[in-house]
Amino acid sequence: MKKFKTESKKLLDLMINSIYTNREIFLRELISNASDAVDKLYFKSLTDSDVQLSKDELAIHVGFDEGARTITISDNGIGMTKDELDKNLGTIAHSDSQAFKTDNAEQQGDDIDIIGQFGVGFYSSFMVASKVRVVSRAFGSDEAWAWESDGVEGYTIAEAERAEHGTDVILTLKENTDEDNYDTYLSEYGLKDLIKRYSNYVRYPIQMEVSKT
Ligand code: ADP
Ligand code: MG
Repeated sequence: MKKFKTESKKLLDLMINSIYTNREIFLRELISNASDAVDKLYFKSLTDSDVQLSKDELAIHVGFDEGARTITISDNGIGMTKDELDKNLGTIAHSDSQAFKTDNAEQQGDDIDIIGQFGVGFYSSFMVASKVRVVSRAFGSDEAWAWESDGVEGYTIAEAERAEHGTDVILTLKENTDEDNYDTYLSEYGLKDLIKRYSNYVRYPIQMEVSKT
């Protein structure tokens, strides 16, 4: 197991234990990462004749499995190599583009809170998940790798399989407590509601897969 860097650990602690209670924004963050990854591949296709893709193939999938308590966010974007999984998910990313979100400001009305306006990023998945697995295959590579963590001390990276380029983020949701019911995210209605509220502006189709169990 590799250990998280000190700053990452601090952020994870904050996310998990947190001052910050608006947990549902995790889905916005993961969909926005999926959309960025598809953008990257699309822009590459404009300048690189090796990249053959048609724009209508580009999509984001959201699925859930009630029995397994998982939510999966998949994209067929640029993907990540083993090194990129390590670098991008093992440390806090400093991003300008995601730094300040105004897209949803109006809809959220009085509920708006400052942190919610910032892109809190990938680590927000640990607000709802006890385990996060990221399976990714970089465009142009025939290898796939899986990054996995419980968001506490560190993470592992191991060989995996994926049929084509892109990324699956698989969240195993926390067990419910007296105060928190994570099961609301394990329904088509609940997920669609979050997508509508937070990810309306995403320019790729978001397709919903219904529970397998
Ligand atoms: P930000 O999106 O602000 O850069 P995040 O914490 O959300 O920060 O994500 C960290 C980094 O991980 C991203 O910058 C990107 O390089 C990588 N990443 C996350 N999700 C994906 C994905 N679905 N496909 C490819 N790369 C991703
Ligand atoms: Mg992000």
